[in-house]
Amino acid sequence: MHSIKLRGEWCKACRICIQICPRRVYVQGKEPNAKGYKVTKVERLEDCTGCKLCELMCPDLVITVEDAEESN
Ligand code: SF4
Ligand code: SF4
Repeated sequence: MHSIKLRGEWCKACRICIQICPRRVYVQGKEPNAKGYKVTKVERLEDCTGCKLCELMCPDLVITVEDAEESN
């Protein structure tokens, strides 16, 4: 399984990742970060294909997707 790291303190809750993920891995979380934004949450990690579209499209560099081999 791939792993996803989210630097939640940088998220601005723009929802681009939620809308762009073809597998609907993300949902908007309920917990605000220090800036008051409700940080994206990984809801269905098992459905992630590792395409990294979310990592490429996040304007705030919040997301890092690691391949299964790298994360062990
Ligand atoms: S694209 Fe980045 S900044 Fe926007 S909601 Fe997703 S993680 Fe947050
Ligand atoms: S790597 Fe692809 S499938 Fe996985 S969460 Fe990001 S956009 Fe969705």
